[in-house]
Amino acid sequence: MAGAVLGRFGLAWPQEGEKEARTPITGGALGFTRGATGAEVDRAVERANAAFRSWRLTPPPRRGELVRRLGALLRQHQDDLAELVTLEAGKVSGEAQGEVQEMIDMCDLAVGLSRQLYGLTLASERPDHRMTEVWQPLGVCAVITSFNFPVAVWAWNAAVALVCGDPVIWKPSEKTVLTALACQSLVAQAAAGMGAPPALSQVVVGGPEVGEALVDHPGVALVSATGSTAMGRAVGPRVAARFGRCLLELGGNNAAIVAPSADIDLAVRGIVFAAAGTAGQRCTTLRRLIVHQSRYDEVVSRLAGAYQTLRVGNPRNAGVLVGPLIDGRAYEGFARALVEVEADGGEVITGGRRDPALGAAAPEAFYVQPALASMPAQGDLVLRETFAPLLYVLRYGEWDEAMALHNAARHGLSSSIFTNDLREAERFLSPGGSDCGIANVNIGPSGAEIGGAFGGEKETGGGREAGSDAWKAYMRRQTCTVNFGRDLPLAQGVEFL
Ligand code: NAD
Repeated sequence: MAGAVLGRFGLAWPQEGEKEARTPITGGALGFTRGATGAEVDRAVERANAAFRSWRLTPPPRRGELVRRLGALLRQHQDDLAELVTLEAGKVSGEAQGEVQEMIDMCDLAVGLSRQLYGLTLASERPDHRMTEVWQPLGVCAVITSFNFPVAVWAWNAAVALVCGDPVIWKPSEKTVLTALACQSLVAQAAAGMGAPPALSQVVVGGPEVGEALVDHPGVALVSATGSTAMGRAVGPRVAARFGRCLLELGGNNAAIVAPSADIDLAVRGIVFAAAGTAGQRCTTLRRLIVHQSRYDEVVSRLAGAYQTLRVGNPRNAGVLVGPLIDGRAYEGFARALVEVEADGGEVITGGRRDPALGAAAPEAFYVQPALASMPAQGDLVLRETFAPLLYVLRYGEWDEAMALHNAARHGLSSSIFTNDLREAERFLSPGGSDCGIANVNIGPSGAEIGGAFGGEKETGGGREAGSDAWKAYMRRQTCTVNFGRDLPLAQGVEFL
């Protein structure tokens, strides 16, 4: 199956000596992939730096041409790539298509950006002097990605890095290697079509040890790492120790407030998508619902009803909304959290069981009913990111209580409020409101669009990608001063000679 899809990208696979790749749909093997050795990582960095020397001199709109070609190939292969995303990450087909669409949108954005990359003109204190700030290409960019957005996160980074003049070395999740190989085949075709250096984009396959080789490599200027907070905690200090640059996109523990004036029909739809979509395996998944006491019973009963209608199953089948968890480890985390709910005085309102029918058919596949749990308080369990479809519901009385619960999370990625009260909405978006990188009104916290800067604060790592001025992370800032006069006035009026 996987071999046939990869054939559509011109790839022969599997090849000899490769490790097993698995699909969460059945838990079965798809074939094999081979991890890169340390020497291969060194060689990739060397080749990327050689490509950098010419690519940084290539005019940015010409660099944009490479990304334009990549976008065209992605449009052509949207179905094929989405099929691989479903096979490897277990995303339902509609969401897999959406993920590839996000890559296409990202290419469009980066092509436009390639005709901008604007700097500043600053006022000089010295006569006949001109001061500017310009943005220069940075160097080789290593992109380490998580399993749950196996292709979009690479595109967020690669499309922008390439127009900024930086070659990219991609270390995909060891759980989703085939999609990475398919993307690499497309970018290689795009580069060959315009005579760009093939080493502008490379893939090195493997686990954390391969990521670490890139993290520690002095030839890598920027490490853009997406994954758990634990990963970021390991990566950040190592990159800092060699004065490299780091862009971290880490975990989330996102909340939504349902205020007294909320439109409950709209809120329920938004909440169910944000909490159960992608089987709860998005960094922006809604994990904490903070409901005003006057609407609590109504919201909980409407959600419980909506959860009953969610179809869990093979993500390739039409009508299925919730696919499998990625693996047994993810299931153990989910099951453990459900046990803790009761130990902490909470109650599982609905869901939480591993689907017996699918489980019997495929013992190594992990399909679960999304769970809803009411919690009396926000303890350690609720403040932890459990990467599965488990939504905790909490109750509040006063506004300050809601905001205190909301901002108590260690993470700071995405947030939302459902309200029809203008004052509440604006307070949520004010300096005393949400402390997250993303704040939404009358939309759940998940499902960001390309164009806005994506990322979050606190244990989410502080990085921003995919829009606004996030491109500046991939470039080197240079302040330039030109003296076009005949004198040499010194700054701050200093006299010398
Ligand atoms: P993970 O941390 O297990 O792995 C992510 C990547 O990091 C993988 O490629 C892995 O091989 C690599 N890695 C792990 N340890 C490393 C180390 N010490 N040095 C270098 N590389 C290392 O995460 P996952 O399970 O694949 O993904 C789920 C997590 O990612 C969740 O916490 C989710 O919230 C987060 N996530 C965040 C964003 C975001 O934009 N903020 C997006 C997607 C996922």
